[in-house]
Amino acid sequence: MPEIRDNLAAVRSRLDAACAAAGRAPDEVEVLLATKTQPAARIAAAIAAGARLIGENRVQELAEKDAELADLPCERHFIGHLQSNKVNQVLRYVSCVQSVDGVELADRLQRRLETLDRTLDVLVQVNTSGETTKSGVAPPEAVSVVTEIAKRDRLRVRGLMTVGLQSPDEAAVRASYRALRELRDRAAGAVGAGLPVLSMGMSGDLEAAVAEGATLVRVGSAVFGERPRPD
Ligand SMILES: *Cc1c(COP(=O)(O)O)cnc(C)c1O
Repeated sequence: MPEIRDNLAAVRSRLDAACAAAGRAPDEVEVLLATKTQPAARIAAAIAAGARLIGENRVQELAEKDAELADLPCERHFIGHLQSNKVNQVLRYVSCVQSVDGVELADRLQRRLETLDRTLDVLVQVNTSGETTKSGVAPPEAVSVVTEIAKRDRLRVRGLMTVGLQSPDEAAVRASYRALRELRDRAAGAVGAGLPVLSMGMSGDLEAAVAEGATLVRVGSAVFGERPRPD
């Protein structure tokens, strides 16, 4: 699937240019492929072309694609809204949940991880856009929620994640990403540990996210093409 390889290279070029414009080193920003609705064969082609991080939004899709992807050299993350009754299942497939949106979900993960005797990387999702359709912790609560979640010994809080504002107004989009970075800085001070990961930016706005400090951009349509149906 040469178009997947070409598209991945084009995303990497955009990132490298955005890093150069922001005075950042290109290796400060990683790409996670958002693979919702994509068949496992296309994801496998992307991995063969060098993709290393895969993100799924639905536990059902993780389960369906597991047989084809489990042995490939990639790391799988969960990036969608996680219902508490799916916690046991999601832990079979992923090494990181980027979408922890409250203490209650963190507690459920913690209890299950105690049973499994393992740990999990997590990001705390913040709703920086204020759009009611989006999940995530409200910004005023973010620092206290991160501080509380960081007390769970099975969870390794690595940073914050947001789905940015969907808007043609670039200044407003950047403001939502800047807000995430500022919350990360305050939360890192409060927990007394570095929170190195800022997961923000998608196909349409990754330059704005890199300018505001993204370390991980989540890209779907720029690599796989437009999705046939809405998310
Ligand atoms: C689909 C999705 C993306 C990628 O969106 P594109 O616009 O296709 O790049 C990023 N993050 C999340 C949480 C998603 O669901």
